[in-house]
Amino acid sequence: MRRKIVAGNWKMNKTFQEAEDLLAELADSLKEEQEYQDVEVIVCPPYLYVEMAHDLSSDEEDETQVYYSVGVQDVSEHDKGAYTGEVSAAMLSSMDVEYCIVGHSERRKYFGETDAQVARKVEQLLQNEITPIVCCGEQAEEREAGKQFEVIGRQLEDGLFGLKPLDFSRLIIAYEPVWAIGTGKTATPEQAQEIHAWIRNLIQEKYGKEIARVIPILYGGSCNAKTAKDLFAQPDIDGGLIGGASLNAEDFVAIINSFEK
Ligand code: PEP
Repeated sequence: MRRKIVAGNWKMNKTFQEAEDLLAELADSLKEEQEYQDVEVIVCPPYLYVEMAHDLSSDEEDETQVYYSVGVQDVSEHDKGAYTGEVSAAMLSSMDVEYCIVGHSERRKYFGETDAQVARKVEQLLQNEITPIVCCGEQAEEREAGKQFEVIGRQLEDGLFGLKPLDFSRLIIAYEPVWAIGTGKTATPEQAQEIHAWIRNLIQEKYGKEIARVIPILYGGSCNAKTAKDLFAQPDIDGGLIGGASLNAEDFVAIINSFEK
């Protein structure tokens, strides 16, 4: 059985007060729900709210009762020094951040993030015991041209396949077709499953059967309470990376509860 994971990517949303309200509501709902227990829930707010997110992530009296884990949305490729505005993996680790999204299509598009940078960021994170959630996915034109496998294959090859097997086995992969992100156009379960199975097969060719069997591959792209159930029922889809729908506690919890029982 592979891990089941639902991660929320808040992107650049929520003021401090709004963030606190959402996290408190989320923690309350998850406290009530029993079903989520076998699902790893991850919340990736903006950096500024990491400490607050941590404070609200567990029961005040019993800190072993954790409702969600805290992640972030990016990390510097450098370890420290004169890089104004950047946040290092060591800093994240010192704030008990456990997960970090890398190579999100918005970072690739608006900030020119390359596969080589993805590789360096992943290395920084692994050195600091933070689990990278690495995004890959094709753009609409690339799919129309039938190039989705070529594009994703290159992203994985250049961004991740330099890792040693033990390091690679610590990753979470997220397949996020760019045409589905924030567009309301979710990939069909069949489209997503086809890519997930293909990615798993590629991992098997590179790292062998056992690593391919255990590595979680999440789907992301307009996944919501309505579409999550059929997506999560696919054999190679191990959960979701959720943008818009993670900004509402009710919707996010409904997605967390969408795995087959
Ligand atoms: C994302 O940004 O990772 C994402 C999946 O966004 P959305 O769910 O809003 O499409």
